[in-house]
Amino acid sequence: MYIRLTGTGNAPQIPVYGCYCKSCSRARVDENYRRRPASAEIQTSAGRFLLDAGRTDLADWADPKTLKGVILTHYHMDHVAGLFHLRWGVAGSIPVFGPSDPNGCDDLYAHPGCLDFTHTLEPYRERRLCEEMTIIPVPIKHSKMTFGYIIKGRREVVVYLSDCDGIGPESASVIRESMPKVVIVDCSFPPEVGRNHLSLDRALPLLDELGAQWLYLTHIGHDLENYLLSHPLPEDGRILLARDGLTLNID
Ligand SMILES: [Zn+2]
Ligand SMILES: [Zn+2]
Ligand SMILES: [Zn+2]
Repeated sequence: MYIRLTGTGNAPQIPVYGCYCKSCSRARVDENYRRRPASAEIQTSAGRFLLDAGRTDLADWADPKTLKGVILTHYHMDHVAGLFHLRWGVAGSIPVFGPSDPNGCDDLYAHPGCLDFTHTLEPYRERRLCEEMTIIPVPIKHSKMTFGYIIKGRREVVVYLSDCDGIGPESASVIRESMPKVVIVDCSFPPEVGRNHLSLDRALPLLDELGAQWLYLTHIGHDLENYLLSHPLPEDGRILLARDGLTLNID
């Protein structure tokens, strides 16, 4: 089983429209530094699941023959924008798993098209989505009802926490008990700035607090990317900057 990160940018993405800072200029000439909106793809032997759907070009690469469902962390536009196009597809019903949110986003509930939003998940209740994968939703702090996900393969565990403005004691304890190999966490801002998302000084301690072997930072903004040009991450290689296209193996 694999997780491929297909979007590791925050809502403005990198490059930011109209910005010519170092990171945005670099991303315009080198595709490897581009950061698209929040999205990932979990590839299992039974098929693929989208994990968030912020990219608006989903219809170009989310193969309808293998797409088994969409797992949403929350209903902010930068995580669901791709669904507004995908919903008018004719590929059969696509289940959408996510938190109970009475408002959803814009008119998605009123006009779901081929998307089935009835698959709401309960906090901390494990759900098997296919033979080799179960997920456990863990509520995390953000400006809207938001789940992080403990994603279990046959033996290994990856935790996805985007968006995140902190983790309460109950969710932190459930994540620790799952003994994650990798935690992928929202880190939008340089130290001590921003709101609703983690800044670097608040994200780094999560490596030890959540008992992860590796911590990948995602939902990256251009100010953080610029900051890291002159303030590198710790050298032991256990805290890493995610990139669009990064693929992690989960056994
Ligand atoms: Zn910029
Ligand atoms: Zn959000
Ligand atoms: Zn976001």
